[in-house]
Amino acid sequence: MLALTFQGVETLRLVDAAEPRIEDPGDVIVRVRLAGVCGSDLHVYHGRERGLDPGTILGHEFVGEVAAVGPEVRRWKRGDAVLSPFTTSCGDCGPCRAGLTSRCERGRLFGWRENGVGLHGGQAELVRVPLADSTLVRMPRGVSSEAALFAGDVLATGYFGVDAAGVRRESTLAVVGCGPVGLMAVLTAADLGVAAIWAIDRVPERLAIAARLGATPIDLDRDDPVALARGTPIDAVVEAVGSPAAARLAFDLVRPGGTVAAVGVHTEPHFAFSPGEAYDKNLTYRAGRCPVRHYLERVLPLARRYDRELQALVSHRLPLADGIRGYELFAGRREGCTKVVLRPRPEDAG
Ligand SMILES: [Zn+2]
Ligand SMILES: [Zn+2]
Repeated sequence: MLALTFQGVETLRLVDAAEPRIEDPGDVIVRVRLAGVCGSDLHVYHGRERGLDPGTILGHEFVGEVAAVGPEVRRWKRGDAVLSPFTTSCGDCGPCRAGLTSRCERGRLFGWRENGVGLHGGQAELVRVPLADSTLVRMPRGVSSEAALFAGDVLATGYFGVDAAGVRRESTLAVVGCGPVGLMAVLTAADLGVAAIWAIDRVPERLAIAARLGATPIDLDRDDPVALARGTPIDAVVEAVGSPAAARLAFDLVRPGGTVAAVGVHTEPHFAFSPGEAYDKNLTYRAGRCPVRHYLERVLPLARRYDRELQALVSHRLPLADGIRGYELFAGRREGCTKVVLRPRPEDAG
């Protein structure tokens, strides 16, 4: 089968890979209809996140149809249309029961294999999904494949950021970084009716989308958001980048007693602000990987309501065979690239 693999920093290769097989009785094999390229795939691509085995099939955003089921699978049969969170989860361990499905004791991240252990990803014709009964979710009626793809990662993560930031209708919220996750945080906050939403970035196309979704755009190359925040105290910040500069900006923006929710993937060893600075601001700092499975029931209605807006965020729809170009466009922010969706079988519609 055709698959897009990681070979080294900024080196990907399309290969004819072995088809995945049922390995555990709870496995399902999904035939991929759509696979997304995520901002966190770029961390791997650029080598900011290390440890991935060369040859790993990339990608943790996918929707598709069940192609094969293991003997202990109860909920799924061949042909069922499903979407997947970007991690597997058992639904039964301590973290899962506490709603932290992204830290399931048995869970794994798609598209991450290290020292021969882990899961291949969804940027392929087929993908193996362990713990399928508790991981996969049925494709809801009235939601497009692209909107469902967003629900399985970036929309859920944006929602999680707004939730973690403790945002209320009367809040002033700043979103640092208007990549797909930041834009999804804007969409969620606007849907909640949040009074004031600042969207901070330096890419004009992204700021324009944020404005359409209901935010006040702030261009880092033209405006100084920290100076602006002296006049408008910021109650909460969703930091959706995952870099020291973004973390520092989030800290500098938030008012004393405010909350920073960091949902961008951080890989650096130290905070961009000191414990003393955090103390002096009575800061609440929340961070981590979104427990998508836990949030999906709340997120799918948003995907349905904003289906058209979500589809409009996809700037590039490419066959999987053009996947390397998709990464290059996304990494270089070229051709107005905001989101790349890959199609293993270009003849698939919808
Ligand atoms: Zn992702
Ligand atoms: Zn679990």
